[in-house]
Amino acid sequence: MSTLCLKNGRVFDPINKIFNKKKDIYIEDGKITEVSNGKISETIDCNNKIVMPGAIDLHTHIGGGKVNIARLMLQEFHNNSDNDYDLTADFVPSTLKTGLQYIKMGYTSCFEPAVLPINARQSHAEMADTPFIDKGGYALLGNDDFLLDLISRGAHQSEINDYVAFILKATQCIGIKVVNPGGINAFKFNQRALNVDENSVRYKITPRKIVRVLARAVYELGVPHPLHVHCSNLGVPGNFKSTIETIKAAEGLPVHITHIQFHSYGNNGDRNFSSASAEITEYINKIPNLTCDVGQVLFGQTATMSGDSMKQHANHSHAHPDKWLCMDIECEAGCGVVPFKYTDQSFVNALQWAIGLETFLLTEDPDKIFLTTDHPNGAPFTSYPHLIKLLMDKTFRDNLLDQMSVDISKHTILKDIKREYTLSEIATMTRSAPAKILGLKNKGSLSKDADADITVYDSSIKDIEEMFANPTHVIKDGIVVVKDGEIKKYTWGKTQVVKPEYDTAIEKKLKKYFDKYHTIALPNYKISNDEMSEVIGSDINEVECIRKRIS
Ligand SMILES: [Zn+2]
Repeated sequence: MSTLCLKNGRVFDPINKIFNKKKDIYIEDGKITEVSNGKISETIDCNNKIVMPGAIDLHTHIGGGKVNIARLMLQEFHNNSDNDYDLTADFVPSTLKTGLQYIKMGYTSCFEPAVLPINARQSHAEMADTPFIDKGGYALLGNDDFLLDLISRGAHQSEINDYVAFILKATQCIGIKVVNPGGINAFKFNQRALNVDENSVRYKITPRKIVRVLARAVYELGVPHPLHVHCSNLGVPGNFKSTIETIKAAEGLPVHITHIQFHSYGNNGDRNFSSASAEITEYINKIPNLTCDVGQVLFGQTATMSGDSMKQHANHSHAHPDKWLCMDIECEAGCGVVPFKYTDQSFVNALQWAIGLETFLLTEDPDKIFLTTDHPNGAPFTSYPHLIKLLMDKTFRDNLLDQMSVDISKHTILKDIKREYTLSEIATMTRSAPAKILGLKNKGSLSKDADADITVYDSSIKDIEEMFANPTHVIKDGIVVVKDGEIKKYTWGKTQVVKPEYDTAIEKKLKKYFDKYHTIALPNYKISNDEMSEVIGSDINEVECIRKRIS
């Protein structure tokens, strides 16, 4: 058996509490092995190098209807170079470029957070066409008529659990996400806002109820990833109160709040827009089962794309360039695409930038917060190395704050925060912590038998942004796929899924519903394992679910 050895690197492996320790790593047959069992066939000298597990992005819009709509809508921004390796500019890159850009940054697993169940086939086809990385999707529920009808009729929790498990299996997803709980459905009945304790006119149920029921279903089915929640009132000044109420709605069950920056706004001051990061991070720090990702805003042209058609509609007047779209598929949920340019000449955009950074820096435990820009909503994922530098270098971020076109210094506490993230904390937040809350036991780790997804950085590069943007080696499943910025070999990752068990009696009810309302028959809605591997083109890896009960 051939063995690859990474020799003498400074290893960061948070799961094993290894931080900045000189260590040799051995790889055999795509896995990490503790000691070399055979002849070492290749050695990579990692002197003056940093060795970490491959990075994991748990929230990035890389596949599905809304991404393709944005690609079509914003063709003028595409880099039309014939050279696939020319990676400049795109903020909604093609599937090929998405894979190339991620792997060249040392990311080896990425998760699409908004898979509309009816559109899951399309999402998986795009992700299967994205080279190198492992991937997975979160299925959207909480605005679909079938679930809202079950809740409004007072269905037993076990029936709801069966439906949620059916959706996970049928769509080949790894988690459940709820976007603006009940709000997207209410929008179709002409409601233009829906607060956490407000009834929808159609179903007479509140977002609080939907969050509670779904968080419980995900928990009881034993799905490792907690309910992934995009809160009510996205982007609305003063929304931090409804964000806190949404957190409370889970009643202590595990919950993940996504792009929390967009939900941490106060309405104080002469502009009626202020930072509420202190109030929000107080909750993150004190509630044990709560995690979040940030959705950092960085300046430049991008496109916002969200399942939250209610809020995308509300924001359409800000579209830059001036074109936008909202749509809905089979009344399951919707999406909205609004291109947007963040600029430091805008008080609101500049403060959004500061609120995101405050949130990162005030959250004490790097196991509870994840590095995201909600790609491409806050900025393209290619800006992660810049974001890491902002977190690790106080002088750098203070200088950028001083150079802003608008003076926001009286509105942010950023300069009072002395904290600089360490390499160990960055390794935790981008490797071990996302693996843990996704239930990926073989990822984000350099333990024996873990998947050999590894990134090597050159620690002699003094600029931290440059170092994180240019790993010297990226290894995927034991194969060196990137060396000194060059692609050495194309590989194709797997799709990570969960399949909790359920009572198939729910499918009788679903069949009636599908026959009456859907354009697709129930059997055709389901994506089988064979279809994933033979038609869509991605093998699956099933992550274990262990059922739990709430008394
Ligand atoms: Zn998102």
